[in-house]
Amino acid sequence: MRGWWQDLSDLVLPAQCAGCGRSRTALCTRCSAALCGSVSSRVRPRPEPQGLPVVHAAAPYRDAVRAVLLAHKERGALGLAGPLGAALAGAVREGLTPERGEGPGSGVVALVPVPSAPGAVRARGHDPMRRIAYAAAAELRRAGVPARVLAVLRQRRAVADQSALDARQRLANVTGALEAAGGSGGLLAEVGRIVLVDDLMTTGASMAEAARAIGALTRSESGSGQGGAGRERCAADPEIAGPSGVLGAVIAASPDSFEINRN
Ligand SMILES: [Zn+2]
Repeated sequence: MRGWWQDLSDLVLPAQCAGCGRSRTALCTRCSAALCGSVSSRVRPRPEPQGLPVVHAAAPYRDAVRAVLLAHKERGALGLAGPLGAALAGAVREGLTPERGEGPGSGVVALVPVPSAPGAVRARGHDPMRRIAYAAAAELRRAGVPARVLAVLRQRRAVADQSALDARQRLANVTGALEAAGGSGGLLAEVGRIVLVDDLMTTGASMAEAARAIGALTRSESGSGQGGAGRERCAADPEIAGPSGVLGAVIAASPDSFEINRN
């Protein structure tokens, strides 16, 4: 059993790699490479839920990547937010790649975290996804991509724990569960791109629901006379990407959702 003294000593001297258990490092080079070492890929769960945006992932959800995500999320190894944010930033950049030739007109990239259940955040004592999103935005800015976090989504009703549900049940569980905070349409209208970010995508149900909530917001708040020229560039532009113009990026996704693994 772990005691408080062990948690405290982890802060001072990381006991072992969160990915593989190798001693005296928070994250060894091999596990770091598993997380951020390869180019992010487009991922598509099967079946693909309706309304799922184009999603890129940094790594398959297994082995060291799974262990590192869980160490940060469930065991509060907060020092891992940096490497996890860097991995997420890579997935965001891969989604934005076709636009690289467009120059500075692309505007600010808004990272919108898919929200965790308020009860889970309370139980963990921190909001892992929001922390990772801030680390990813900082990493993107360091690379010259203007990025900021807009945590505008929230749960409007409780959802059941997804882990025991199949794809169809997950979709039913989360459909209509998210909403954007009132007045956030103006914030989103001022950004160039909206990228929904999450730590893990399995069936895609949560990501599709987040895209629906953003789409509903931009539809309901456009044409209301608020906003300005930025409205024209808002996410609900089918020319930009996907059905609602929103992109998705995750750190990890089910191994079989990577297109590269399919014949
Ligand atoms: Zn390791």
